[in-house]
Amino acid sequence: MDLSSQLRPSFTAKALGALDGAAGMGSRDRPMGTLDVFLTLMRVDAAADWQRIWLNFSEPDASDAVRYRDSSPPNGDSWNGRPVTGTCARAIRAAVALADRPAPDLLPVPAGLLALCLVGEPTTAASRALGATSEPARSMLLELIQETLVNGHWDDIESVLEDCFDPPGPDAPGSADDEDPDVRAYVAYQADQIQALMDALNEFLRAGTPDRSGALLEQHPELLSAPFDAIIAKSITEAEQARDHAGARRLRERRLFLENYRQLIDQPLPAAAPVARAGECGRRDHVLTGSIVNEPGYTSVAVRCGRCHVGYLSDVWWEPSGEARVDYYVFPADGATTITREIMTWAIAACEQSITELEQMGGRVQRSTPTIGMRPESLRRHTDFTPV
Ligand SMILES: [Zn+2]
Repeated sequence: MDLSSQLRPSFTAKALGALDGAAGMGSRDRPMGTLDVFLTLMRVDAAADWQRIWLNFSEPDASDAVRYRDSSPPNGDSWNGRPVTGTCARAIRAAVALADRPAPDLLPVPAGLLALCLVGEPTTAASRALGATSEPARSMLLELIQETLVNGHWDDIESVLEDCFDPPGPDAPGSADDEDPDVRAYVAYQADQIQALMDALNEFLRAGTPDRSGALLEQHPELLSAPFDAIIAKSITEAEQARDHAGARRLRERRLFLENYRQLIDQPLPAAAPVARAGECGRRDHVLTGSIVNEPGYTSVAVRCGRCHVGYLSDVWWEPSGEARVDYYVFPADGATTITREIMTWAIAACEQSITELEQMGGRVQRSTPTIGMRPESLRRHTDFTPV
């Protein structure tokens, strides 16, 4: 069915701008999906306070439209002649159903209501790209979109959306997701396997607590595997080829994060594992070297072995209030993933000693939890290590 001719009168000009714009962009060989419409909507409705949403969710870009696909392939619907995924057609129809409810009557469909329905089901490409596939992220996104884009509020938005996506009644059409599997669905299934892992990765990186991170990795240990690292590496190359520098940078950060995590739990990738290196020197063989970086409001001290490079680093930020904020790190030797007990005890004692000295001099010190096992970014600033 040509949705554009049938439903055009039901949408506001802004919502039509998003639908027409998405239908006219990108390759005609690829069906228009929920994320295509969402991306166009972000441009058409640029005056809306999207930043409030991006404070909590991933801001999608054009590279995501290839990476995230709707779960249901096209089943005969189109917009301006371009095939529309089954998932996206459901969202477009749900937006009309949501606006057409007796109270409040919101027809024609405003842009914000269309946005709400594009993420109205957790399986849409738009929901996945934003990282809102599971609770509590999903409820939070629905709330934020209502506040910032709809300027309205339903107390029971999830059940209202359910009714709009699958209207109750004897003549209700079945869900497009219930169709018998065919070749196309099988291909989509393969993509979904990778997609599920990407979703898990996104969720892992957003996880606020070590407990949550650990639980996700227990659930999806594949995230730490070499094939998954290869998937990320390939995505980085693709993003670079598409000149999507922001996307490539974000992927590199994600890859580095997982790499650090593998090191921390002592499960490096085979290629990254020490080959001929012995790691930390014998306890009498270390040659300690030190370096200090002094900038206005910032002092960083690093001490490491000049041979194996095991050591510690302590960053001190001086707040305008006079308070000192201290972060310290104990990092392993080159090629090693573990730190010996002697070095750990020595490093922690040295850092704690300098914090005590700061306090004895009358300073107020706010300390963070020590970071053990990761090489701190600020170590790059130290270039002039000399024997201590
Ligand atoms: Zn050493």
